Amino acid sequence: MAGLTLDNVTKIFDDDGEEIVAVDDVSIDIADGEFLVLVGPSGCGKSTTLRMIAGLEQISEGEIRLGESVMNDVPPTKRDVAMVFQSYALYPHMTVRENMAFGLEESTDMPDDEIDVRVEEAAELLGIPELLERPPSDLSGGQQQRVALGRAIVRDPAVFLMDEPLANLDAKLRAEMRTELQQLQEDLGVTTVYVTHNQVEAMTMSDRVAILNDGVLQQCATPLECYHQPNNLFVGGFIGEPSMNFFDVELRGSTLVADEFEYELSEATVASLGGETDLVLGIRPEDVSLKSAVESNHDYRTVVDVVEPMGDENVVHLVFEGSEVDEDNLFTAVLDGMKSVDSKQTLVAEFPEEAIHLFDRHSGEALR
Ligand code: ATP
Repeated sequence: MAGLTLDNVTKIFDDDGEEIVAVDDVSIDIADGEFLVLVGPSGCGKSTTLRMIAGLEQISEGEIRLGESVMNDVPPTKRDVAMVFQSYALYPHMTVRENMAFGLEESTDMPDDEIDVRVEEAAELLGIPELLERPPSDLSGGQQQRVALGRAIVRDPAVFLMDEPLANLDAKLRAEMRTELQQLQEDLGVTTVYVTHNQVEAMTMSDRVAILNDGVLQQCATPLECYHQPNNLFVGGFIGEPSMNFFDVELRGSTLVADEFEYELSEATVASLGGETDLVLGIRPEDVSLKSAVESNHDYRTVVDVVEPMGDENVVHLVFEGSEVDEDNLFTAVLDGMKSVDSKQTLVAEFPEEAIHLFDRHSGEALR
């Protein structure tokens, strides 16, 4: 077992003479046994990063190390990593047992009886021993997924690499497999790098999340840190559902001035802003509190546009009074499912100071 290090890793593709920087100077230290999730929007470089770790893609610059060993020029089969793909990639003409044994038969000289023991142990662990003699075509999506995992487990690798392994499952099975996979990883203690664009998976399964955008690492931290202390506007907007609300504001003295409202900051907060005046105020929908005009001691009224009942909570879309109801002006508040408000109702939205995030509008960096 060993930790995995990405040291200033860059990948440049040549697309008909045009350079595409798919991964840009990414450095991450992944601890032995850690579950790291790589997350980000489509095209941000997640799969390319994973494929470089697997050896399926050459590294343009930088170094990937497993423990102390540099992996850059080690062929994929010699890397002590096992990959699980979204498509499962099972061989249709082989039984489950043969599929699970195949990698070991091909790439090691392990005796058949030992391979058999490993396959049966993995099948037991995954709850699929009764499926061993069946072809993949006889299995459900969830069962095929387990076989794909089994094939990785029997190799007893130092690192699991998983590329959206749950993407083809329906929502219920996906949620079940999420917990199961996480438990399995913890029990086996194998260092895991898991790619997804699903932020629920990223937030619930990982020890740490590495958030990529345009090939650049934005933040690598625990899910809670990314949620509570986003490094920049991108992370603030990417993590959390519904997304963080943003308002352009200007700091004048100790007052944040927006088109729609003014907000008085404490001295301590002003001091933390380092003299920057062009800012973005971020507030999570769950931190917005909605009050009636009599309950509130400020008078920036908002008008409710639509309420989306989600069961355990209500998502309220509103605008400041006098603003046009359009995408640029609407913001959201999340209320407990027991509380609701009516469409067109006038309310006061309060943003508690301890919950607001302030970003430098030009660099996007979090100042507070
Ligand atoms: P998705 O979630 O859609 O799979 P991703 O985050 O995994 O996206 P990558 O597949 O790593 O993103 O792609 C990163 C960038 O590199 C994209 O701009 C993509 O078009 C480009 N890219 C990937 N593979 C190649 C290639 N073989 N040749 C040229 N460009 C490539």
